[in-house]
Amino acid sequence: MPASNPTNPASQAVDSRWRRLSYWFESLPDPIVPRPRLATDLDVDVAIVGAGYTGLWTAYYLAALDPSLRVAVVEKEVAGFGASGRNGGWCSAFFARSHAALAEEVGLDGMHAMRRAMERSVDEVGAASAAEGIDCHYRKGGTISLARSSTQVGAARAEVEQARSLGIGEDDLRWCDQLEASELVGATGVLGGIYTPHCAAIHPARLVRGLAEAVERRGVTIYEGSPVGLISRAGPSGALNRLDTPGGRVRADVVVRATEGFTARLPGRRREVVPLYSLMVATEPLPESTLEAIGISGGLTFTDGRHLIIYGQRTADGRLAFGGRGAPYHFASGIEESFDQVPPVHHALRATLVALFPELGQLAITHTWGGPLGVHRDWYPSVVFERASGLGSAGGYVGDGVSTANLAGRTLADLITGRDTEETRLCWVGHRSPRWEPEPLRWAGVNAGLVAMQWADRIEARTGRPPRLASAVDRLTGH
Ligand SMILES: Cc1cc2nc3c(=O)[nH]c(=O)nc-3n(C[C@H](O)[C@H](O)[C@H](O)COP(=O)(O)OP(=O)(O)OC[C@H]3O[C@@H](n4cnc5c(N)ncnc54)[C@H](O)[C@@H]3O)c2cc1C
Repeated sequence: MPASNPTNPASQAVDSRWRRLSYWFESLPDPIVPRPRLATDLDVDVAIVGAGYTGLWTAYYLAALDPSLRVAVVEKEVAGFGASGRNGGWCSAFFARSHAALAEEVGLDGMHAMRRAMERSVDEVGAASAAEGIDCHYRKGGTISLARSSTQVGAARAEVEQARSLGIGEDDLRWCDQLEASELVGATGVLGGIYTPHCAAIHPARLVRGLAEAVERRGVTIYEGSPVGLISRAGPSGALNRLDTPGGRVRADVVVRATEGFTARLPGRRREVVPLYSLMVATEPLPESTLEAIGISGGLTFTDGRHLIIYGQRTADGRLAFGGRGAPYHFASGIEESFDQVPPVHHALRATLVALFPELGQLAITHTWGGPLGVHRDWYPSVVFERASGLGSAGGYVGDGVSTANLAGRTLADLITGRDTEETRLCWVGHRSPRWEPEPLRWAGVNAGLVAMQWADRIEARTGRPPRLASAVDRLTGH
């Protein structure tokens, strides 16, 4: 790969385009030099569409299992352009379906198998990145969901009780009393919290960019700046699956679609995955005294019990990186660069941060960004591989994709190479979600859900009681 020339204005302009994507991209230590595009037709064994965590972990484990495979990753922009280079950096064991819902659907054994696989994935991301020399600031400090109202205390205690009744022990999830919770996170109004050790804070862009280099070292070729238009199925005459890009076609026995929140932009896939935007802010580095006051040390990540999700971590250079939902869903699953900046939502995030930590009131927000994550109609993530057609995909992680994508990559690699493993038997393998409604129903339904969550939080804050629609909102959002 050619090194970028820091004195060349063209190379600087390209670099700064990508750096604007997120604080994480902006703080990457190395120049961002796009890899060559696909400029010819190509035959490979496995073609992967999308160079985010899903696509790159799949390539990584495939190359490890069978180094003789010819694997190509085809990316529209640059590796990490999607949610993988912009997220909150929670590498957690959260799976976008509650333990209770999973236990009901697939039984206790199936639920625990999925839970343990997710917990192992958190460690695997740390182990694999260490083995590859990827300095992604992996710090496994667990995560706490603060309870800051009596309603949230009630809900949190009920969640811990439910976990016990499902056989999830103290070591995996436990109630923290007021003293312990406020020592962990020096936020206002803390009455307690739920703590789980199964979460690491990471620098997401360092992980995805480092992973791209790791797969190249293993012989995988990544083509950037190569948008895939149509993914065509193999024909009955023995023709291979095919990807069309402006610079050339890729023919492959196996094609993996790893486009998560961007899937709806592919021809014929508008109703498979809804892109929901999550937005983030980063503060300037905090003074030592403020860091001491707010805690959140050792790679701890934090949220609280409100309906409209918020999430935060303290970065390795002493900032708070803080995000939340609330950005609107765009008609016909629209995705545009301008949707990453929604000033009212970024202002609201800042206000929430200051409400949690009043000492941040005078500090500058230095970065605002956002991006789309993928949601299936039943809020159920999946890994799918059809041996007959050679087509595979994974996604729909609903904002819990950092470690889930690692599990997806390992599972896809096993399925593609015909291995029967614990991972290939998990309940999400082969799960088929229904399609989303056609527009304008989809637009009305998704945005009504978002407004209902905001409304539920406001009513709870004002009255101290959950509104009657709260449990309906939680059911709607898979919590
Ligand atoms: C702001 C934000 C915060 C988040 N926070 C967290 C968090 O803290 N913890 C967590 O677990 N999850 C979080 N998530 C979700 C998580 O980041 C994603 O689930 C995960 O990164 C998905 O990885 P992926 O590889 O499947 O998709 P992506 O990273 O989105 O990658 C898809 C890739 O496909 C490419 N692509 C799209 N269309 C085409 C095409 N036609 N041709 C070629 N390439 C194409 C895109 O350019 C992109 O690079 C967050 C997401 C966002 C947006």
